[in-house]
Amino acid sequence: MNSISDLHLNGDTVLVRVDFNVPMNNGSIKDDSRIKAALPTISKLTEKGCKVILLSHLGRPQKDLNNDHSLKKEKYSLRLVAERLKELSDSAVHFCSENTGEKAEKAVENLGKSEVLLLENTRFQKEEEQNSPALAAQWKAMADYYINDAFGTAHRKHASTVALAEQYLPERKAAGLLLEKEIVQAYQVVNEPVGPLVAVVGGSKVSDKIGLLENMIDLADEIIIGGGMAYTFIAARGGLVGNSILEEDHFQTARKIMKMGKEKDTPIHLPEDSIVADRFHRDANTQVMKSREISDDWMGLDIGPKAQEQFQKVILTAGTVVWNGPMGVFEMKPFARGTEIVARAIADATSRGAFSLVGGGDSASAIKILALTDRMSHVSTGGGAMLTLLEGKSLPAIEALD
Ligand code: AMP
Repeated sequence: MNSISDLHLNGDTVLVRVDFNVPMNNGSIKDDSRIKAALPTISKLTEKGCKVILLSHLGRPQKDLNNDHSLKKEKYSLRLVAERLKELSDSAVHFCSENTGEKAEKAVENLGKSEVLLLENTRFQKEEEQNSPALAAQWKAMADYYINDAFGTAHRKHASTVALAEQYLPERKAAGLLLEKEIVQAYQVVNEPVGPLVAVVGGSKVSDKIGLLENMIDLADEIIIGGGMAYTFIAARGGLVGNSILEEDHFQTARKIMKMGKEKDTPIHLPEDSIVADRFHRDANTQVMKSREISDDWMGLDIGPKAQEQFQKVILTAGTVVWNGPMGVFEMKPFARGTEIVARAIADATSRGAFSLVGGGDSASAIKILALTDRMSHVSTGGGAMLTLLEGKSLPAIEALD
């Protein structure tokens, strides 16, 4: 796979697939990290005098059941992202409210050297998610080179990520700086981890993390399981978990994973105790109970103080730590402590020389809230894409660049 520096760029027109799928809140951008993460690639191209055309999706307009077309167009428009990009970038930034057709072609024609043009949301075209070669061909006609820097969507086979890349010759396409960095970091964990490798896995559902756990049983020296998914493991072993979140249809999966752990000699640590609540609410009554003896009507919403200590100790032995998924319902203050302790332990392990990789999504937002991002070796911008790499699988968008 090419890097940008492998392409001989000098004032060329370059299409760049970025991931500007930023969280929005009532018409404003809640977190602009993804826009900032794309800046190094954009600057590198404008420094070479290139005309930069940006493609991105935002949200899921095709899945929105609201039939009011103009409301939908406004809600999922990238216009505000373009405004933010104007503030962040050193180059002139233009926005076009279409992404194909005459209007878009005109905007490309008018683009000056070292200028940036953001086209409207790729998912306004239903063919985007169908990986349509015909749609990709319309974009291909706009530029001589293609760069994919959209790590957050690299696990999806869409027209702007796969079909489009496939239409460029190998010497005309490359990975952007962000995509490259994310791949290198995941590669280090999966292929060359400095031991001991500790995998910390949390979140609500076992079903989302089966692939990760199975791969980590082979790779990791220790596995820590927290969050809601831990109760499926505990119940599958015969523990009583009260009203805690459970996936009974995954008891077999949980048993299989624990058996694999035994066979491969990879210890799987489950939380000894839990902070339990009498309802799923920040004002609920709470107490500490053993995780395998939770009374009826109570639910485990965070790991308890013994589990915090237990997990912290294991994390501090690590040479490499990979973390995906919160230890509790960290969005509510009374159940955020476990996630905080684990995040701080990973930051401390990193200060002692360990390599730490935090998978995107909820763990990345927890780290951000705790202002610990700078203390980690790498915090990924892509939840699903990073999970796929850590499962040991390849990403369609990367294969299309290869
Ligand atoms: P996931 O998307 O599977 O990574 O899960 C993230 C979500 O899991 C967060 O929104 C947490 O609030 C939730 N979560 C973590 N621990 C628990 C728990 N013990 N019970 C219910 N939800 C949980």
